[in-house]
Amino acid sequence: MAPPHPGPYRGLTDEEKASAPKFTKELGLRILGYLKPYKVKFFIVIVVVLLSAALGVVPSLLTGRMVDDGLLAGNFEVLVQLIIASFLVTVVSNALGLFETWLNTSIAQGIIYDMKTEMYAHFQKQPYQYFVESRQGEIVTRMTGDVNGVQSAVSTTMTNSIKNVGTIIVSVVALFQCNWVLALTGMALVPFFILPTRVTGKRRWVIARESQEKYDEANTILGETLSESGILLVWLFGKQKKEYDRFKGVSSDLYRLNIREMLAGRSFFMFMNIFTNFGPLLLYLVGGILMLRMEGGPQVTVGEITAAIAILGRIYRPVNELMNVSVDFTRSLALFERIFQTLDMVPSIVDKEGATAPDVIRGEIEYKDVHFAYKKDGPEILQGVSFHVQPGETYALVGASGAGKSTLISLVPRLYDVLDGAIHMDGKDLRDWPLQELRKHIGFVTQDTFLFNDTIRANLLYAKPEASDEELMDACRRAGIADFIEELNDGLDTFVGNRGVRLSGGEKQRLSLARVILKDPEVILLDEATASLDSVSESHIQEALAPLLKEKTSLVVAHRLSTILDSDRILVLKDGHIVASGKHAELIESSEDYKTFYDTQFKAGQDEAQSKRRRALREQRTEAEVSALAWRRSQGHWQELGDFESYY
Ligand code: ADP
Repeated sequence: MAPPHPGPYRGLTDEEKASAPKFTKELGLRILGYLKPYKVKFFIVIVVVLLSAALGVVPSLLTGRMVDDGLLAGNFEVLVQLIIASFLVTVVSNALGLFETWLNTSIAQGIIYDMKTEMYAHFQKQPYQYFVESRQGEIVTRMTGDVNGVQSAVSTTMTNSIKNVGTIIVSVVALFQCNWVLALTGMALVPFFILPTRVTGKRRWVIARESQEKYDEANTILGETLSESGILLVWLFGKQKKEYDRFKGVSSDLYRLNIREMLAGRSFFMFMNIFTNFGPLLLYLVGGILMLRMEGGPQVTVGEITAAIAILGRIYRPVNELMNVSVDFTRSLALFERIFQTLDMVPSIVDKEGATAPDVIRGEIEYKDVHFAYKKDGPEILQGVSFHVQPGETYALVGASGAGKSTLISLVPRLYDVLDGAIHMDGKDLRDWPLQELRKHIGFVTQDTFLFNDTIRANLLYAKPEASDEELMDACRRAGIADFIEELNDGLDTFVGNRGVRLSGGEKQRLSLARVILKDPEVILLDEATASLDSVSESHIQEALAPLLKEKTSLVVAHRLSTILDSDRILVLKDGHIVASGKHAELIESSEDYKTFYDTQFKAGQDEAQSKRRRALREQRTEAEVSALAWRRSQGHWQELGDFESYY
């Protein structure tokens, strides 16, 4: 059942009144700033608009003459001449209107284009935290809804205002020339238009703002719950009803708000229409008095009354529209305000003036007493972390979940900046590097691999656009995914689906490894997936990783024992400190923290992995799997193979 609506005449709360946008000089100048590149076109628009406003009044004046000099004077020739003249003027003023529309639209679209591209570039510069914290759908709404909303302000509001002011001036002059009494009578109704506009304008703005917020909310719900991972969560937790109700709630709010907005607008038009229709009636009445009831003969001709009524029609409409423009303008002002708020967000991670990269890039990384917190007054996740990775070395980070391992590696590509202390790459503070140059030399394989909804080829070319198919396949071979791709019907041209859903977790990871191999950076940051992969995938990844990590400087958040064993040094992270560092054999003897970690993470993990592997072996004892396990054996991972041995 449709929810009841409270009607359009709800009183405004103080808070709502206070939040109505105020037109300040700064805001006005800033909006005008967007018009600057189009000032020549805009000037032409003004000229054309005024010209067509002036021409527009001519047919009305000619109508009066048709009545007096043609019809009433009985002069057919004059009548025909006036008809032709009136028709030609109408054609010309309409042609001018078309020209004006073209100019207008191209200015408006130009401004929208400038704003959208400026905003996109601005979003790209925001710190990572912004994307982590902003609601899904919000950025899209900002970029589409808000920006498109201002289009009406630019194309309709601005030029309509000029056109209407022009029309009103020309018409009022013409009206007074017709007959001053009729003119004054017609003008007396104008104030009645202004009152309803004042009342409805503010109300419509408040409703518009509320509904914009609701649209944001609805977009967020849609984006989150109908995404491929969102819907999965909804299904698996049986929350369809809850999410449906949430969406229904927002939609019914929108339903009410839209009706209220429509009614607020409609009530405004109702007043307008009543007065618009009343005007001509009043002129007939006053005209009638002047013609029929005044002493000393008629004070006005029929033609003058006809012309005055026609001209009055031309005045009321622009006044009407002008008032409406103010409603739209108030609304677009709110959109402008929000767009400017977005554009005023100061990007916190930017290039320093004169930032340069070192001449030789070797991939040496040094953390110097690094402190870090996500929020200035929030808890310190890293509290004085120092270590030094030489080029080509692999450091494994271990520690309990939430210890700050992912945070630690995310500081290298400057997803966040340190709070205190410094991180140096090749002897230079990261903050003194040009951001793009720094990131060019870093390969980051995150737990949650992102792939574009495109072909495998397109996803790989992202790292190296000029790479040949041979190069792509070579990288895939090194990442252990080449066989898989070759078996696909479409090979490299296979579409991976949204975020790569058509691929398994292991395949996605190997593809993202291939992407990093193609990028060929000096430093590799790897956040190993905690989710256990099947043993074949795992061994493939291991196979791909080992040589890669050997060549490059690597910081690895390690969840696999093999990574830990292969690393040059293990850093044990606890409560924001490095509590121990060394090789596995040393640490297991010397560090209680490492031993506890090892016992809880790996012993337990191993049990799980063992039973998983056993299950896999039981289910499909494929050759590939057996050979993969044999490979691991050859790599010396005896502990991991215990179950394999015992199974056979
Ligand atoms: P680990 O990788 O060791 O599991 P993380 O580095 O992911 O740990 O997290 C360390 C701490 O920082 C946790 O308490 C986590 O809640 C917090 N944290 C992680 N990411 C953010 C973020 N973007 N904003 C605020 N806090 C965060």
